[in-house]
Amino acid sequence: MDLMDVRATCLNCMDGRVQLPVLQWIKANYPVDFVDVITEAGMDAVLSAQKDIGEILRSIAISVNVNQSTRLFIVGHHDCRGNPVDERVHRQQIRDSVERLKSYYPRQKIVGLWVNAFWSVEVVSESVGTRLPYLHRDLQ
Ligand SMILES: [Zn+2]
Repeated sequence: MDLMDVRATCLNCMDGRVQLPVLQWIKANYPVDFVDVITEAGMDAVLSAQKDIGEILRSIAISVNVNQSTRLFIVGHHDCRGNPVDERVHRQQIRDSVERLKSYYPRQKIVGLWVNAFWSVEVVSESVGTRLPYLHRDLQ
């Protein structure tokens, strides 16, 4: 493992249409070498409303604690078949997801993203983070 590479963590839908736009946007806007990607169908609905997100937290913990990820991204997108709600609801779910993960990673920078009908990326919400490595309080 190269300890000098800079990681980010992307929590995205599994929809193939959104992968490259989001990865390219992250790499264009942040000093990141590699993006660890965790997917679920309708990730914004899962993170905002599903009670048990233990499997997702396990993947995040590896990305943050082992790979030393510097920031987390949570993505919702237009025409999501895994979470077919309107854009207003998606945007609220993205904000709620950022808040929920902030309770697990209060010092991590967390950014909520919306991928619109033109497959462009918009920032929905952003938490302030220190970018310092942070040990997951539940899994240590
Ligand atoms: Zn989707």
